[in-house]
Amino acid sequence: MSKEKCPCCSDKSFLECCQPFILGLKKPTIPEELMRSRYSAYATCEVDYLYNTTATKEQKYYSKKEIERWSSENDWLKLEIIQASENIVEFKATHRLKSSLDIQIHHELSRFIQEGNDWKYLDGEFF
Ligand SMILES: [Zn+2]
Repeated sequence: MSKEKCPCCSDKSFLECCQPFILGLKKPTIPEELMRSRYSAYATCEVDYLYNTTATKEQKYYSKKEIERWSSENDWLKLEIIQASENIVEFKATHRLKSSLDIQIHHELSRFIQEGNDWKYLDGEFF
C-alpha cells in the first residue's frame, strides 16, 4: 500500500484513491471512479485490472500484451476530467512516450455500462 499521490491527479494518496479499486478491495460506484482507477492502472501497469474492467463482450478486442505495451511504453503525466455523467466520462490523459519523449494528449469520451454490480468500460469516442 502506498502513501504516494494518486496517479489520477485527484490530490489524494494512491492508498485513499484508486489503489483499493485496483487491488479489488473496493468497487467503483460511479464511472468516474472506474475511469480514474483505469488511468491509474495504466500508470502502474496493472494489466489484469484494465482487462477485467473492460465490458465482457469487448474483451475480445483487447490483448493483455497490447495493454501492457501501451501502459509501460509511456509515462502517464496527467489526467483531466472534462465532464462526467451517469455513464459517460470525457477526459484528457497526458502521456509521454518513453522512447521518443513525445508528449501526447489522449482525449476521449468513454462510455461505461453496468454488468451486475460492476461498472465496466464499454468504448470510447476519440478526438
Ligand atoms: Zn486516483
